[in-house]
Amino acid sequence: MTTILETHGLVKRFAGLTATDNVSFALEEGQIHALIGPNGAGKSTLIHQLCGNLLPTEGRIMFAGQDVTRLAPAARVARGLGRTFQVTSLLGEFTVRQNMAVAVQARMGRNLRILDRMNARRDVWDETDDLLGGSPLGRRADIVVDDLSHGERKQLELLVSLAGRPKVLLLDEPMAGLGHAESQEMIDVLKGLRGKVTILLVEHDMDAVFALADRISVLVYGRIIMTGNAEEIAASAEVREAYLGN
Ligand code: ADP
Ligand code: MG
Repeated sequence: MTTILETHGLVKRFAGLTATDNVSFALEEGQIHALIGPNGAGKSTLIHQLCGNLLPTEGRIMFAGQDVTRLAPAARVARGLGRTFQVTSLLGEFTVRQNMAVAVQARMGRNLRILDRMNARRDVWDETDDLLGGSPLGRRADIVVDDLSHGERKQLELLVSLAGRPKVLLLDEPMAGLGHAESQEMIDVLKGLRGKVTILLVEHDMDAVFALADRISVLVYGRIIMTGNAEEIAASAEVREAYLGN
């Protein structure tokens, strides 16, 4: 296995509070690696350091063999360390397919004018339809984004971020705010990404974690207390005590 992203002794202190406390972990290429832990454990703080929104107080972040600890977020994205776009970055009056095409076109480095969307070349549409084809959203390709459900928009965000061809996707609670059926669909979408992109998945929904994750790390009070597969995590008394609460 090849490690694509790793942290060495990552510490993030906020006045008086250590949100990540000497976190070292490795993300293996091709895997879905879940990060779980109680509220306030430091999961989002870790993700923010990985994507560059927060600079660590101490420690290093290596991505694809290079030190990216102090790189700006956009420079990390350019290297393939991707975050999902926010719903707010979608173009509400345009269709699912047009939104995807704009993202594909942007990745190709073409002059990004919204009007170009109609003139996009064949290869843009081919890649757009490829990305949409394997997902439930493929059936909604001609719907304008303003008419999508919240769950569908979250799916589109995810697919739009794939247009950038990231090597790694950092997902902070992609099921948050979704109903049961929408969560199930999101799980299916994420399953479809297995093998295409490496994923670090922060998620509260344990059904989703157990359905998706190749490996799971448990963060408690800023420290990783255990990393293992679903069986090992479910069987750990320490994890149950610290997190599952029984
Ligand atoms: P999680 O995502 O696991 O719920 P967070 O990473 O959001 O946890 O927060 C970890 C801890 O750091 C919490 O105690 C939170 O209040 C604190 N924290 C997060 N961001 C900041 C900040 N910008 N300033 C001060 N404290 C923060
Ligand atoms: Mg969080």
